[in-house]
Amino acid sequence: MNELDTLRHSCAHILATAIARLWPDAQFAAGPAVENGFYYDVELAHRITPEDLALIEAEMAKEIKANHRFERIELTRDEALKMARSGELAALGPRDVPSKFKLDILEHLPEGETITIYRTGDFTDLCAGPHVSHTGRIGAFKLTNIASAYYKGDERNPQLQRIYGTAFKNKTQMTEYFAMVEEAKKRDHRKLGAEMGLFTIDSEYVGPGLPLWLPKGTVLVEELEKLAKETEFAAGYVRVRTPHIAKEKMFLTSGHLPYYKDSMFPAIELHEKGCCAPDAEPERYYLKAMNCPFHNRIFAAEPRSYRDLPLRLAEYGMCYRYEQSGELFGLMRVRSMQMNDAHIYCTEEQFEEEFRAVNEMYLKYFKIFGLDKYLMRFSTHDPAEVGKKYVDAPELWLKTEAMVREVLNRSGINFVEIPNEAAFYGPKIDVQVWSAIGREFTLATNQVDFAMPGRFGLTYRTRENTEKTPLCIHRAPLGTHERFIGFLIEHYAGNFPLWLAPEQVRILTIGDDPALIEAAESLRTRLHGAGVRVTADLSNDKINGKVQNAELEKVHTMFVLGKRDLEAGAVSVRVHGKGNLGAQPQEEAIAALMRKIAARSDEV
Ligand SMILES: [Zn+2]
Ligand SMILES: [Zn+2]
Repeated sequence: MNELDTLRHSCAHILATAIARLWPDAQFAAGPAVENGFYYDVELAHRITPEDLALIEAEMAKEIKANHRFERIELTRDEALKMARSGELAALGPRDVPSKFKLDILEHLPEGETITIYRTGDFTDLCAGPHVSHTGRIGAFKLTNIASAYYKGDERNPQLQRIYGTAFKNKTQMTEYFAMVEEAKKRDHRKLGAEMGLFTIDSEYVGPGLPLWLPKGTVLVEELEKLAKETEFAAGYVRVRTPHIAKEKMFLTSGHLPYYKDSMFPAIELHEKGCCAPDAEPERYYLKAMNCPFHNRIFAAEPRSYRDLPLRLAEYGMCYRYEQSGELFGLMRVRSMQMNDAHIYCTEEQFEEEFRAVNEMYLKYFKIFGLDKYLMRFSTHDPAEVGKKYVDAPELWLKTEAMVREVLNRSGINFVEIPNEAAFYGPKIDVQVWSAIGREFTLATNQVDFAMPGRFGLTYRTRENTEKTPLCIHRAPLGTHERFIGFLIEHYAGNFPLWLAPEQVRILTIGDDPALIEAAESLRTRLHGAGVRVTADLSNDKINGKVQNAELEKVHTMFVLGKRDLEAGAVSVRVHGKGNLGAQPQEEAIAALMRKIAARSDEV
């Protein structure tokens, strides 16, 4: 548990104390720290209402003010069971009924395990800890929500009331957090996506979790692909294209079947006409959940020699995963996703350089999108688990992890190393980024693979004329279109930089004088011809209203044309969020516009 989780979990004890004071017959189950806060599950005849939360908070404030010590006490299992039977756990003292959930938890703990309880003032709870030293350490807290949950998440068990809260070291941090939550609501990608006409999810005809990209959203998709294709071309990648389905054999070989069967769409069963006996087994096809197996077959399609390596196969490949319907969430959790994928096949000697180049690509993208805060989580293996949890290649593990560490250290990249969390087939890096309002997202992964090339029997001919299995790096710096655009909508609050903006320029006329209209239309034709996404509002509406519409629709740049501009060969430039930049000679305004688009930056 990190420091903040410890503080939050400690606050869960305080919540239970307050509830026990108000309703002594309360039965408590689990009270962990969770993302952004904590909860405690409680069984109580009284239905806790939103109005009760203030009452509970007042009791909690008293416990914090009293600054009780979190006293850790070790017990034998029998002593702990005795306390649970006399109702003393998660309670203020002995009761007529047992602490039933705590009793159940204790009975499920292995014999001989050291049991600990924690005491704060007169409240005692069964808990492994850790906690803050004193209740006074909880600088700020708030109860946020009431929900319901089954004991141990099993609907055959009793239904409990789940009280959520959050806690921080101090008031300032809590104020900042709630301000961020408010801002995030305004920037919600589902809300902005609908308002801006970027995407829609048509559950009735297409299906849940299968987004449709509308024309404006498709602009974002295609601009990102263009960026990726240019970047990958410059870095020596070659592009491939693969179908959306493949035979069962493919996924049995890759190991996706049977292990990931639950997250794949069920098989399509096919009886080929006229090819086999009527009672023959049907051929099974699956929608692809990953691009790698296809790229492996492309590697296998031709004999490869060391001279062909590194071979970098790139594809913005569409994948399908069967996510539970309750897990689906806008663009962030979907069932169809297009991935900025590539697989780099290389020798062990080439690995370090390839890995370094992939990292540089990440950093280049972070710069383009103004991501100043990011963290790479480097998950490594545990030597004791090689051959069990991890593929049996002890030397390769040590060697590649050392190389990855070296590259990360040398490039000054912000990273943490997490032991014993690597993928089965190799070390991996998850990339976390923070949006402009400080919300954290896991966007991309970068993995080394010792296993899959072997499973597919991929080899190359070495300089010494022997056959060797290549290493494979899976990398997807821009993640999937769905997740990345969901993130960008929040990051930019829908105000995309010029190169990405669905509508880059709108020409607004002041009035509808024929000469003005003609000038506006010829400007539009010229910009359109130069590849700019441009529209014109030539109506006779008041200019303020036209500007306001364009602002609301988050048009990036407005070229306002009035009679005086026309005579001077000028346009008045307005940029969304920056306001009126004044009149500029038309040629200069157009040149500046083209410069920004080409540089993928508003700051040139
Ligand atoms: Zn605890
Ligand atoms: Zn892959």
